[in-house]
Amino acid sequence: MQYYDNVVELIGNTPLVRLRNVTEGIQATVLVKVEYLNPGGSVKDRIALRMVEDAEQAGILRPGGTIVEPTSGNTGVGLALVAQLKGYRCVFVCPDKVSQDKQDVLRAYGAEVVVCPTAVPPADPRSYYNVSDRLAREIPGAWKPNQYAHPANPRSHYETTGPELWAQTEGRITHFVAGVGTGGTISGIGRYLKEMSGGQVKVIGADPEGSVYSGGTGRPYLVEGVGEDFWPETYDREIADGIVEVSDKASFEMTRRLARTEGLLVGGSCGMAVVAGLEVARAAGPEDVVVVLLPDGGRGYLSKIFNDSWMARYGFLDNSGSEPTIAETL
Ligand code: PMP
Repeated sequence: MQYYDNVVELIGNTPLVRLRNVTEGIQATVLVKVEYLNPGGSVKDRIALRMVEDAEQAGILRPGGTIVEPTSGNTGVGLALVAQLKGYRCVFVCPDKVSQDKQDVLRAYGAEVVVCPTAVPPADPRSYYNVSDRLAREIPGAWKPNQYAHPANPRSHYETTGPELWAQTEGRITHFVAGVGTGGTISGIGRYLKEMSGGQVKVIGADPEGSVYSGGTGRPYLVEGVGEDFWPETYDREIADGIVEVSDKASFEMTRRLARTEGLLVGGSCGMAVVAGLEVARAAGPEDVVVVLLPDGGRGYLSKIFNDSWMARYGFLDNSGSEPTIAETL
């Protein structure tokens, strides 16, 4: 019989797919690493597994323990999956701006979700940073992974995603492009690829306009999961050869094109990374192989990026030149 013993065994070994339609006029091969095919639906399953294993080995997470993390999204799902298998409780703390759907996903996996007010400064005792710290102190057997500072975050990519990319491209990868949030993905994969290629592989970060990685002040943007208003410990400043700044509008337009023309229903940070990847690919030659990592799927964004009125509200919908729908012609 062919089966996996549990879903955690499905983490990693995601495929590479060639982009064929958004690449018009580009000579280089552009491949995407489809991380939504992880069991929890995102790249974050990888770091969740490694952070938990690391804590178990260090003896700071013991049977019956509780995982406490300020997260509203992908990392929470990954941690909840791994916690379920290993018998830990999960308490996730998130600000009240996080959509009900996202909270419900975490609860569906059996996690408890504590919601905190968004409209308070980080120093306020009610802020979600402070509430998660307090819960981690007060719950007996609690452990807080802290993905922004945990070395197993970049290390999981150095040990899994990086080697996968090198093997899948038979060492022919010339450029690697990824969005930067905690920086774990780009730092871990980037380091591995640079070591294997003797520094030949170029590593490019994609960043929302306004975020610190591309010189911004942390001013708000709408693309989720990427960009920061501080420099996390998990980001290695030595790795990226360049950072491409991408607007919300360009990110979301590309996200929609990926669903419509490549059959890839992915999240907004994926559209952002592809915009940067195509910019890199346009300047690359026919022998070059550009790989863009796509962190998650698009189902979590149906009421935003894939919703016309939401897009129109922010001025992201540009209908000029598009065909009228059947409904509009009736
Ligand atoms: N995109 C999404 C949707 C994410 O959740 C994350 C993780 N914050 C990233 C991109 C960026 O990955 P990293 O934290 O490894 O830089």
